[in-house]
Amino acid sequence: MKPPAIVLLSGGLDSATTLYYALSKGYAVRALIFDYGQRHRREVTAARAVARAAKVPFEVVGISLPWKGSALLDSRVKVPSGGVRKGMIPPTYVPARNIIFVSFAASFAEAVGAKAVFIGANAVDYSGYPDCRPEFFKAFQGALDLGLKAGAGQRRVRILTPLVDLSKAEIVRLGSRLGVPLGLTWSCYNGGQKPCGVCDSCRLRSLGFAQAGVADPALKGVGA
Ligand code: ZN
Repeated sequence: MKPPAIVLLSGGLDSATTLYYALSKGYAVRALIFDYGQRHRREVTAARAVARAAKVPFEVVGISLPWKGSALLDSRVKVPSGGVRKGMIPPTYVPARNIIFVSFAASFAEAVGAKAVFIGANAVDYSGYPDCRPEFFKAFQGALDLGLKAGAGQRRVRILTPLVDLSKAEIVRLGSRLGVPLGLTWSCYNGGQKPCGVCDSCRLRSLGFAQAGVADPALKGVGA
């Protein structure tokens, strides 16, 4: 029997690649998608489309963060378009997002007997969010081992971050090799019909595709 695993799926390039990576490793994947009040719903639509394309069951969980505190949650705060600045945590940081997401995934995993939680966090070509760093996941693993019933027994739920040390170009290559439907993924922090091309997430994505020498299928039919 395939070992069950939960994959956090946001609809972006990284999480979609992580989902296909988990499938390639023989896991019986269940995707967990959050509708957490993102400034646009495009992300949730993309995540559903990727899960359907991969033929994996998924849950969409609604979470409300009424205190906002992020450009991704508050349409009055402008999403920066000037490029990633090393050592700066940008206003698109969502307070405690990965702590919340991994906690929900751990609960899901424990409830259904899954041994692994996959998250497509990346700490190379990224926006500088502290909760994407390997140190965070290592420390959080310690918390799960102590706080879960499964952790207190012998059935540890492991947090797996297969992309954490990869460059964006390496992620694009891996995704292409695994057959990820890259055209269905959505990385832009802004909504709309086409990616804005100037937010940090669009910039990192286009850099990755360019360095990998792959045309981004999500930009097909989109004018430059
Ligand atoms: Zn964008």
